[in-house]
Amino acid sequence: MAPFLSKRDLRFQLFEVLDTAALPQRPRFADHSREVYEDVLNLAYNVADKYFASHARESDLNEPHVVDGKVQLLPAVGDAMRAFREAGFFSAHHDEELGGLQLPWVMTQAVQAHFQAANVGSSGYPFLTIGNANLQRVFASPQQQAKYMLPLVEGRWFGTMALSEPHAGSGLADITTTATPKDDGTFSISGSKMWISGGEHELAGNIVHLVLARIKGGAAGVKGISLFLVPRYRINDDGTPGESNNVVLAGLNHKMGYRGTTNTLLNFGEGGESVGELVGEAGQGLRQMFHMMNEARIGVGMGAVMLGYAGYLASLDYARERAQGRAASNKDPLSPAIAIIGHADVKRLLLRQKAFVEGGMALGLYASSLVDDLQTGPEEDRADTSLLLDLLTPIVKSWPSKYSQEALSDAIQVMGGAGYTRDYPVEMYYRDNRLNPIHEGTEGIQGNDLLGRKLTQAGGRGLEVLMSHIEADLQAAEGLDGLDEIRAALKTALEQNLSALKVILGKAAELGPDLFLANANSALEMLGHTVVGWMWLRQAAAAARALPEAKGDDANFYHGKLQAARFFAIYELPRIEFHAQLLASADATTHEMQEAWF
Ligand SMILES: Cc1cc2nc3c(=O)[nH]c(=O)nc-3n(C[C@H](O)[C@H](O)[C@H](O)COP(=O)(O)OP(=O)(O)OC[C@H]3O[C@@H](n4cnc5c(N)ncnc54)[C@H](O)[C@@H]3O)c2cc1C
Repeated sequence: MAPFLSKRDLRFQLFEVLDTAALPQRPRFADHSREVYEDVLNLAYNVADKYFASHARESDLNEPHVVDGKVQLLPAVGDAMRAFREAGFFSAHHDEELGGLQLPWVMTQAVQAHFQAANVGSSGYPFLTIGNANLQRVFASPQQQAKYMLPLVEGRWFGTMALSEPHAGSGLADITTTATPKDDGTFSISGSKMWISGGEHELAGNIVHLVLARIKGGAAGVKGISLFLVPRYRINDDGTPGESNNVVLAGLNHKMGYRGTTNTLLNFGEGGESVGELVGEAGQGLRQMFHMMNEARIGVGMGAVMLGYAGYLASLDYARERAQGRAASNKDPLSPAIAIIGHADVKRLLLRQKAFVEGGMALGLYASSLVDDLQTGPEEDRADTSLLLDLLTPIVKSWPSKYSQEALSDAIQVMGGAGYTRDYPVEMYYRDNRLNPIHEGTEGIQGNDLLGRKLTQAGGRGLEVLMSHIEADLQAAEGLDGLDEIRAALKTALEQNLSALKVILGKAAELGPDLFLANANSALEMLGHTVVGWMWLRQAAAAARALPEAKGDDANFYHGKLQAARFFAIYELPRIEFHAQLLASADATTHEMQEAWF
């Protein structure tokens, strides 16, 4: 079996491209060191390998089902949760007082990457729990944190995010779940929540749902939406789970992939009252959820990267072993067939995967490092860092979701018929990843967010910060061996971006919102490819600096980085021109298409 993750590349990204080993200079991380980080990564690999990778296919073939009213999962999922808890990964990023290691977010994402690659279905339970606890840490009262959050941080109870409803997915402003105030300050919650991952199972003592609902009589639209803590079991005074809170499983959704994660339709307040507690102030529910979106969306992007990466490694392994055909120049039918990795077209498919997944991983980890900078970096930079992270978030979420799908298609192609069978994992990764452009805001919603909001936020400061960072890296890479072509392609891409954005943003008022946003997907494609091109410049520069001293495997590794950077510059960056032209022309083809014409 091919490894599910490249330890070498993860360390390259963390310690050679990013300066993660310097984080212990910041007071919050003072007890850390490169050795501590190595130990954490090794532990993550071992737990992921032994307890998660081992049942990935079994989970895919045996999706959750209900027996006597209870959701049944494979016993191996429970073992995996125990191992994750015992390794301390539910709390690793939290403060020491909460039992955490105060791990930086970039390291937390690097840890999570192991589990996403090894078994994305089982990793869903802890990651939802971690996201739920992180939100409570920012917005819940100290009493609520003691009651609902601590058991999540300790990994004893699990959490969900219950936003979507059967009729309201992208349009969350239209949710109808209601919260009726009770005399004791709590609320009675009633309504249906659709697609809730981890919504029902027997893996933990309780499940804490974070539910978006409207307080009865409140404002219409987004302003009327609040956030509530609604446990599966009501909580006794001593903190133990008590009687049922009437959150009823109406059914399980049967999915194409991610089959290990239970996905549910939940009815709140069916057959009795579902009692919930308001988090923070009324009317702030969507704002609170969006506060956590940067982290959640980086997590989705990284999940996509890791599926693509695992597929790349599997197809690479196969391509080295599979003998088929001969070089076009070899006319001797008696000579042995060569390994398919020797054919230029197979190398193209492998290089394309490498460029997408390693570029995506660089982007996900870079964005994670910005979360750390926002919390512990120099005070004077934080406003700019925040705008940069906001601008990058739709790209970090959607670019890997889309391009890992392309990479996984290439992985199947490399493997020919074998790739299309269940004997190998790539068809499973392909199905698993297909969720990523859909959940946590579809690709369409990310495009609208980028062009309609993030590019103009704070007078376009986020874009200025991004461009200044890219310019600085272009300058720093000047004169490095083998980078001229890459630098030139990225410079051209920057010019195309800036001129297209200037035109379309300048025409926004004249076009009106509908036509202005009609080609928002091209903004996502154009800026997404540019940002990943920048990530490749950063990787190529690190490789070029290290190469003169490198020998053996290390030298091969750095050569591979330079070649993949070159591939991205030559095969991918030129695609930007099409999107730049389409965007600047404010082409109205899709906007003007009439429903009756389909
Ligand atoms: C497996 C799975 C797990 C999930 N887990 C959770 C969870 O744990 N908690 C939770 O709350 N939700 C969860 N979801 C829900 C998920 O977030 C929604 O599916 C997603 O937001 C899209 O909503 P929808 O499915 O209703 O699609 P719709 O909103 O109906 O969208 C359909 C299509 O229309 C497009 N569209 C809609 N509005 C616009 C617009 N304004 N502009 C341009 N295009 C638009 C979309 O981009 C999409 O292509 C999950 C979904 C799945 C499939």
